[in-house]
Amino acid sequence: MHRVAMEHADKILKEKEALQRKINILETRLSETNAQHKLSSEGNVSDSPLLLEFDVLKEDNILLKEDIEFFKTKLIEIAETEEGIFKLEKERALLDASLRELESRFIAAQANMMKLGPRDAWWEKVEKLEDLLETTANQVEHAAVILDHNHDLQDRLDNLEASLQAANISKFSCSLVDLLQQKVKLVEDRFQACNSEMHSQIELYEHSIVEFHDTLSKLIEESEKRSLENFTGNMPSELWSKISLLIDGWLLEKKIAYNDASMLREMVRKRDSRLREAYLSYRGTENRDVMDSFLKMALPGTSSGLHIAHIAAEMAPVAKVGGLADVISGLGKALQKKGHLVEIILPKYDCMQVDQVSNLKVLDVLVQSYFEGNMFNNKIWTGTVEGLPVYFIEPQHPAMFFSRAQYYGEHDDFKRFAYFSRAALELLYQSGKKVDIIHCHDWQTAFVAPLYWDVYANLGFNSARICFTCHNFEYQGTAPARDLAWCGLDVEHLDRPDRMRDNSHGRINAVKGAIVYSNIVTTVSPTYALEVRSEGGRGLQDTLKVHSRKFLGILNGIDTDTWNPSTDRYLKVQYNAKDLQGKAANKAALREQLNLASAYPSQPLVGCITRLVAQKGVHLIRHAIYKTAELGGQFVLLGSSPVPEIQREFEGIADHFQNNNNIRLILKYDDALSHCIYAASDMFIVPSIFEPCGLTQMIAMRYGSVPIVRKTGGLNDSVFDFDDETIPMEVRNGFTFVKADEQGLSSAMERAFNCYTRKPEVWKQLVQKDMTIDFSWDTSASQYEDIYQKAVARARAVA
Ligand code: ADP
Repeated sequence: MHRVAMEHADKILKEKEALQRKINILETRLSETNAQHKLSSEGNVSDSPLLLEFDVLKEDNILLKEDIEFFKTKLIEIAETEEGIFKLEKERALLDASLRELESRFIAAQANMMKLGPRDAWWEKVEKLEDLLETTANQVEHAAVILDHNHDLQDRLDNLEASLQAANISKFSCSLVDLLQQKVKLVEDRFQACNSEMHSQIELYEHSIVEFHDTLSKLIEESEKRSLENFTGNMPSELWSKISLLIDGWLLEKKIAYNDASMLREMVRKRDSRLREAYLSYRGTENRDVMDSFLKMALPGTSSGLHIAHIAAEMAPVAKVGGLADVISGLGKALQKKGHLVEIILPKYDCMQVDQVSNLKVLDVLVQSYFEGNMFNNKIWTGTVEGLPVYFIEPQHPAMFFSRAQYYGEHDDFKRFAYFSRAALELLYQSGKKVDIIHCHDWQTAFVAPLYWDVYANLGFNSARICFTCHNFEYQGTAPARDLAWCGLDVEHLDRPDRMRDNSHGRINAVKGAIVYSNIVTTVSPTYALEVRSEGGRGLQDTLKVHSRKFLGILNGIDTDTWNPSTDRYLKVQYNAKDLQGKAANKAALREQLNLASAYPSQPLVGCITRLVAQKGVHLIRHAIYKTAELGGQFVLLGSSPVPEIQREFEGIADHFQNNNNIRLILKYDDALSHCIYAASDMFIVPSIFEPCGLTQMIAMRYGSVPIVRKTGGLNDSVFDFDDETIPMEVRNGFTFVKADEQGLSSAMERAFNCYTRKPEVWKQLVQKDMTIDFSWDTSASQYEDIYQKAVARARAVA
């Protein structure tokens, strides 16, 4: 704009010079005429025709002189007006630049709003925005003042035009007047254009300010909301879990009545903001005040959400051995998100990751539970894990059941978990809760089902329906029948072929008891549910057939918050399906960390993360290591084994490859490293002999590592062979083999390596497709929700 104005000024100057030249010519002619006049008068030629001509010339000269004066003044006026317009244009250019700046800062502010950081940083942003807003407002005011002053300019232009039109100009100067009029017209146009641009910019400014105000108030509103929810962390549900634990604590400590507790719990489930506000306003003060204000709010209400209590031996990340742990937190969170009140009861292991529990504290109450003819005290700890309310039971029993520095593998595991199952039910019973669903998992908490119906229902604690999930039929929890009596079960009553007696030997079987005594029985994938109805049932197939109406397979999901490559804090670089550069960076980082060769970035890396037990196909894992070496790839195994021979065998393999910079075996449990391996690997092997569901293949896909799996159980429900033309291309996501032998695995690996090296573009598309598959808990949690609701409805119908 500035450049255009300069060009205009140049043009005017040139025209002015041309005008000046014409004036000069006229002046020269005038002086020549004057000289002639003088000469003539000296020579007495007054009556000659020359004299007549001279008179005419003289008259012309006078007119010309007047014209010149007129033009001179007009030219000065035009120059002055032009200068004003020049200034106006400069102002407009400034306004334009600051509008651009305002726009870009506005966009940045909006982007910032999307990724709000910690609260303090956040307020800083709001303050900066307010400053910017003030500066902008000042600029607009200034622009408005300039526009006001432009009335002077407009007046001057009008006068100029009028005087040019009215001017009584000699015939010699008509063309000059035209020229001047054109000039004034040009100046006038420029003035109008500049003026209207300034007006529209001011309008834009005002619009931006309104938008700015809106954004700012949204930011402030959001900030307040977040500060309410986030005062302890980033999970909104965390707050509700804390409130829920607080209420239960009061109830157990007999500070509030059962009915009040139920109403308050219902308010928690509905996320009643009054409860939240009361809790936050009394934060840090006496519990008593919070309790009083809560009680004032407890009003009767109705509910459609369920109260679900999971009783389990594991929960990720606080006490994790395998997939069971992931299911408890993943399913729990998904159900909580759907509006149900979910709580978890776990043993308080001495080896659990206490740092993963927030607000861990012991309640001022001891819950007594029965065991081997005596009553034992249990300390009850509460805290939140992944935003879920968790109870940890610490038995005050001389055997120190959960202070063994490991989760499982003790000689008295049967006793430890029979004790825990009884204590967990006792906790629910004594808290007076009317839970809708008690969901127990695997043999360790299978005792809950017969205990509930044979012991607790007789005490009037019978509002719940029992759901039992068997995560692996390999582990059934068997013992001599008499051991059932430890937790208060009636041996005679239960040691029968249609109840708890094992189908093939004289012992009792905890999983069988749960199948018989639960209202709902599930396992973790549809294919595995089929497999266990025959040999996969490990002796329980007949029992499952008898109870087939209440038995179904629901494929597990994965916790997509924990397993998310675009937010994973363990990774060197976060990435997503659209940007695979980050994946390459993680591969390079892992190679460096594990001292693997890094000369060829595209050398394929095969990962494997597993418990090293027979089920996982240990001989095939061993074969995959050698096969990868043969195919020119790199192999990283992260695994540990509870079986000493297997652990030793793999230590031997690790030693063997110690100096090979393409193979690494890390024989331990390491959660952080597992994330890095998922992110770094190109392929992931899961050659299981049987696999109830399997989570690693799903996690691997989410991290862009293509699975190579044996077609069994949940692997069959989640991995579909890339070369299988009988299934639609969209669902093909990995490489599978059927026979659990080395040839089967080798051929699947060869196909994968071939595709990887020969068709990099096809491979890339496969990786991107795998990363976008929805393995979240949403669908599976809906299936659980559905069967829970049906069971509860049936119960209500017969009540
Ligand atoms: P399972 O429950 O039979 O062990 P799953 O595939 O269902 O097998 O779940 C295994 C879970 O345990 C996954 O989250 C996997 O990442 C994790 N995991 C297994 N072994 C290790 C290990 N050595 N270090 C870290 N995480 C492991």
